[in-house]
Amino acid sequence: MRCPRTGTPLKAVKVGGITVDISTACGGVFFDHLELQHFDEKHEQRGQVLADHLKQFIPMKIDLSQRIRCPKCIKITMQRHFYSPKNIIEIDECPGCGGLWLDYGELEKIRTLFPTKADRDNAAKEFEENILHSSEYRDHMQHLEAKEAMAKRIKNIKQVNSFLYLFNP
Ligand SMILES: [Zn+2]
Repeated sequence: MRCPRTGTPLKAVKVGGITVDISTACGGVFFDHLELQHFDEKHEQRGQVLADHLKQFIPMKIDLSQRIRCPKCIKITMQRHFYSPKNIIEIDECPGCGGLWLDYGELEKIRTLFPTKADRDNAAKEFEENILHSSEYRDHMQHLEAKEAMAKRIKNIKQVNSFLYLFNP
């Protein structure tokens, strides 16, 4: 897989026994569907270790407003969703495979922005609503068999939420 920002090869690294794909060119990280299932076991050190590791890869100028393609699905453009009550953090989510791309510093931001369980619950709820009410989501749904797609999206959203809990146990 290649970095969706820089086109350089992603590097597989093991964090707490789980392999994720990171960009040493820009400090981004890709989590795929199955990886996230493993991540909901709340090993809190894993998030810290990964965030610290990524910090060293300070990106050259990258245009974060540029939409990116999923490194796994290649042809699918990832959807950018706000993931915080104050719309501070945006993350990229692949509607095809449920993968997530976090740019430089985003993991750290997610970890520090939600200090309490109530904060996390609110953020998770808001995130689900953002996705379900987005125009992109509605467009996407029109092109798929609605029922199956909905089930898949809900599953993906729940995994995103597990991800948030992992990094803020
Ligand atoms: Zn994908």
